[in-house]
Amino acid sequence: MKLFMVSVVFVLKDAFDLAVCDGSRRGEQQAGRAASGGWCGVEMASPPPPPSRRVCVTGGGGYIASWLVKLLLARGYAVNATVRDPGDPKNAHLGQLDGAAGNLRLFKADLLHPDALTAAVAGCEGVFHVASPVPSVKVVDPESEVLVPAVKGTLNILQACSANNVQKVVVVSSTSAVHFNPSWPQGKPKDETCWSDRNLCLKNEDWYMAAKTLAEETALDYAEKNGLTVITVCPCIVLGPLLQPVVNTSSEFLIYVIKGGPTVMNNMLWHIVDVRDVADALLLVYEKVETSGRYLCAPDQISTKDLLHNLKKTRPDYNYVNCDNGTNLNTSIVTPITSEKLKNLGWKPRNIEETLFDSIEYYEKAGLLQDVEGCPCKLPHPFHMATDK
Ligand code: NAP
Repeated sequence: MKLFMVSVVFVLKDAFDLAVCDGSRRGEQQAGRAASGGWCGVEMASPPPPPSRRVCVTGGGGYIASWLVKLLLARGYAVNATVRDPGDPKNAHLGQLDGAAGNLRLFKADLLHPDALTAAVAGCEGVFHVASPVPSVKVVDPESEVLVPAVKGTLNILQACSANNVQKVVVVSSTSAVHFNPSWPQGKPKDETCWSDRNLCLKNEDWYMAAKTLAEETALDYAEKNGLTVITVCPCIVLGPLLQPVVNTSSEFLIYVIKGGPTVMNNMLWHIVDVRDVADALLLVYEKVETSGRYLCAPDQISTKDLLHNLKKTRPDYNYVNCDNGTNLNTSIVTPITSEKLKNLGWKPRNIEETLFDSIEYYEKAGLLQDVEGCPCKLPHPFHMATDK
């Protein structure tokens, strides 16, 4: 089961105190706004203060996006966040963020619905395109499940940005769009000039990697051809506490490692970044005027063996996954990466120990490390390269 609800108390009332906008009913909403003095037809106690800077975040209820929305609100931005279903309890946490009552509007928008995206970015000076499918199980229909929403979805949001004179767009890519490059010189740390071979990803049926590579290429190509300022940020595996009440794929990975699933993992290299540092990086590249192109966001690397050693030092009392200690460090695909370009902007990520500690602490509090009957511990599919099976 991909997602399961955790023991987080929802205050649904708060979720519905938010302004909710549905791009498909704009006429109705505008009439409602005029009548109620609220926004998009939703009654509000008092109108929000005039925002100085409004930005849009796509997929606002997701793992990384939720931390970004929190950060933006804390910094005084007014935020339009798109979600596919504003009424879904999995998005209720957004209503509880500090500043949400006055400065957060939710827009119902699928990435494949251009009108809804246009409504969400209208009046925004900047857009953070975070939404993209991150499947945790094997993909059955790669086109519809991953490739089209990632690539066409990126194009749709960029076109909406052009149409609305958005000044800067930050697109969240991934180191999946970096690593799979067999012709990169051995021993040289991968930098922003290294791209995954999209044909190889497609041939290997690594749909997520292919989708992230194609989507990022599409974004930078669109920027060049259409004169839109687009910055891409490529995070590695993102870990750290969750704000949302459902478990995302990268957190499922660490939970698997801690609980100790049946798969023996290879001793390979992992790049890990804290979700709070990713949010910082996204805002940093947005606010710095001099930014351009790609930014790799992968400050820490650790072998499976050292990851387990580190975790066991913090919490010796879990099963932990077995690592194939007989083999040397496997660096066939994942090799060292440099994030110097991002660090040169002043990005200061925390150390990996803090991320792992805070992750475990959160999982424990949320009851995520307990066994659930009928839900065997499974390694999320995008991490299948960690095993020979
Ligand atoms: P997440 O929690 O699963 O967030 C993904 C978001 O995308 C969800 O809000 C989801 O909405 C939305 N989405 C998917 N398909 C959509 C569609 N067709 N229309 C509208 N929204 C759609 O995962 P995450 O880890 O935060 O990932 C966010 C971004 O970071 C993605 O672009 C991912 O590729 C990238 N990234 C993640 C990691 C990582 O380790 N977590 C690493 C590198 C890059 P629903 O809730 O409605 O499904």
